[in-house]
Amino acid sequence: MSQSTEKVLDHFDLFRQPQYVEMLDNKKTCFEGGKSDEEVFKIADWTRTMEYREKNFAREALVVNPAKACQPLGAIFAALGFEKTLPFVHGSQGCVAYFRSHFSRHFKEPTSAVSSSMTEDAAVFGGLNNMIDGLANSYSLYQPKMIAVSTTCMAEVIGDDLDSFIRTSKQKGSIPEEFDVPFAHTPSFVGSHVTGYDNMMKGILTHFWEKQERKENGKINFVGGFDGYTVGNMREIRRIFDVMGVDATILGDNSDVWDTPTAGEFTMYDGGTTLEDAAAALNAKATIFMQDFGTEKTRDYVKSKGQETVSFNHPVGVAGTDEFLMAVSKLSGKEIPAALEKERGRLVDAIADSQAHIHGKKFAIYGDPSMVMGLASFLMELGAEPVHVLATNGSKEWQAQMQALLDASPFGKGCKAWGGKDLWHMRSLLATEPVDFLIGNTYGKFLERDVGTPLIRIGFPIMDRHHHHRYPVWGYQGSLNVLVKILDKIFDVMDSTTNIPGKTDYSYDIIR
Ligand code: SF4
Repeated sequence: MSQSTEKVLDHFDLFRQPQYVEMLDNKKTCFEGGKSDEEVFKIADWTRTMEYREKNFAREALVVNPAKACQPLGAIFAALGFEKTLPFVHGSQGCVAYFRSHFSRHFKEPTSAVSSSMTEDAAVFGGLNNMIDGLANSYSLYQPKMIAVSTTCMAEVIGDDLDSFIRTSKQKGSIPEEFDVPFAHTPSFVGSHVTGYDNMMKGILTHFWEKQERKENGKINFVGGFDGYTVGNMREIRRIFDVMGVDATILGDNSDVWDTPTAGEFTMYDGGTTLEDAAAALNAKATIFMQDFGTEKTRDYVKSKGQETVSFNHPVGVAGTDEFLMAVSKLSGKEIPAALEKERGRLVDAIADSQAHIHGKKFAIYGDPSMVMGLASFLMELGAEPVHVLATNGSKEWQAQMQALLDASPFGKGCKAWGGKDLWHMRSLLATEPVDFLIGNTYGKFLERDVGTPLIRIGFPIMDRHHHHRYPVWGYQGSLNVLVKILDKIFDVMDSTTNIPGKTDYSYDIIR
């Protein structure tokens, strides 16, 4: 055998050894239909044709590789943005193991969330006992300041009522009567992780705000939405507010809990919006939402309480950031300081330096609705052409708004927005109407491998590259990070296709 204690091979090398190659070949022949490579390649080629694309887009009852996750993932994201809050998911344990690992793979940090561990008996008789025991255990073992409860599909299918379950748990002494337990029903058979974020954010605000009368204090609230760059973005937004002298409350600030320092001890809770600030946020003059598609219910709730609301769609780039800063300035009455104007000028300068390499390049983008909208706007600002823009969790309303944005620019001419489509649809689009680059999350690497479109990793999750989440993508500084990511890939591709001296590399260029 190739593997021994003296010579330990990791799986990259191990399965290339002759006995494994033979074993896998035999498996293919004996158990997997045993089709010849020629036949497999023939069918694979056919799936890249326009004929197949039409069949693919006619598909109704099947989703293949959707670019979205489920509601409780977003609920956990929102809950972790509050001080010493333990996300508690009522339902199956396996779902929560997936949520924890999904976040930990993206942020490279442990993510604390518990489950009421419902099994077969709870599925038949209801999960009340799981809730009573689960809340008691969570309260005494992990000593949170707040427990935020959401649900998995299992609890939703049998119709467990969180409000009454939490009340009963308190009556039975699981947790003190006055202990904060906001909740949100998060059925995963509708919506996506962004819907779950919205439901939980609304649930938390409702929990604190329904107990009091509003007395306006002139402050501004900020809600970031589900965002894979939250560590970098929240700190950047805080910096911008500080530079402008704006008195603002960031609702759901999870930048610290996903960036805890290594100091010899596990830090379960770190940072987050204080519960006092969450309650006092009712009195703010206005709330800014950074991702309009994905915070609709929270926005409507905030509006119903008498606050002004302003929404953006992931503002990236010069125009997007200008718009954001002008709104902050208008709401707060604070001037945009010279320091930020200088940052703007530096971004414009960087764009001018690199514009020749980006202008006219064609892009496909997929991801969450607001994020792809922001990225598409930035690309058009750079003179690039976003040909396919896809959001699996994009509604009809998103599709119409996205299409209008594309149609309004000469760089969006002939480009198309695709709401509700998945990455198998994207594969057909890339194969039949090729573009120069694909922008999306880690799962795009399989599209890159399959159709050969170079992938620029922007989105959630990014599991196969490290630390991207530490760098903001909002504001002038964040836009510069996005620009660099795009340019790095353009130059990598240029280098890899011009690397044969005298054949593809005539000028022996060191610079681009
Ligand atoms: S879709 Fe439902 S069953 Fe699957 S992980 Fe999400 S909550 Fe669990």
